[in-house]
Amino acid sequence: MLPSSTVENYLKAIYQGQSSLASDGRLVPMGQVAAALNVTPGTATTMVKALAESGLAEYEPYTGVRLTPAGEKLAALVLRRHRLVELFLVQVMGMSWVEVHDEAEKLEHVVSERLIERIDDMLGHPTHDPHGDPIPTPEGRITPRHLDSLLTCPVGTPLRVTRIADQDPAFLRFIESNGLKPGQLIEVETRDTAADSVRLCGQNRAPITIGARAASKLLVEAAAG
Ligand SMILES: [Zn+2]
Repeated sequence: MLPSSTVENYLKAIYQGQSSLASDGRLVPMGQVAAALNVTPGTATTMVKALAESGLAEYEPYTGVRLTPAGEKLAALVLRRHRLVELFLVQVMGMSWVEVHDEAEKLEHVVSERLIERIDDMLGHPTHDPHGDPIPTPEGRITPRHLDSLLTCPVGTPLRVTRIADQDPAFLRFIESNGLKPGQLIEVETRDTAADSVRLCGQNRAPITIGARAASKLLVEAAAG
């Protein structure tokens, strides 16, 4: 019997791999799963085969893996626990959004259904965690939503930071100290393809220039109204 936290981490990695794929129904390459979990491809394959035997995933040798509807639902519920715990740690415990991801990585495997629903009630049924990641419903559903990054968004129009697609504490600190947290209003001034950089300005702030990699992890929406 595999420890449930291991199973849950695999389900989560495959789920997140699937949501980063361009088209629905494609398989997540095993190399990507192994890299996300920091294990060798051999270990990942053994584990994914076990998931397939439990009916949680479909594995195709030399191609990759995808979750079955049952696997998808379990993965979404792990993310639900993770994201509600993060929000609870920030809003109720007063922790920084920089430090809550690592705590939630552990707590997501141990908090009970009852506690999670109590947290959800207490926080007023929130839809997003402190990083802007959507919180799945108790049924494990997320409304898919396309967001531009600072590499693809329109230039010279008001934007609202919606989601930060990286949990690295150093990156989150950089985001915070430059006024780029979810909810902040910003505008891309120029995009320089030769230098691979984006120049942007926030409210009452001097413009800053960031690299394309950082820009790709800042997701935004039009700040209408
Ligand atoms: Zn997190």
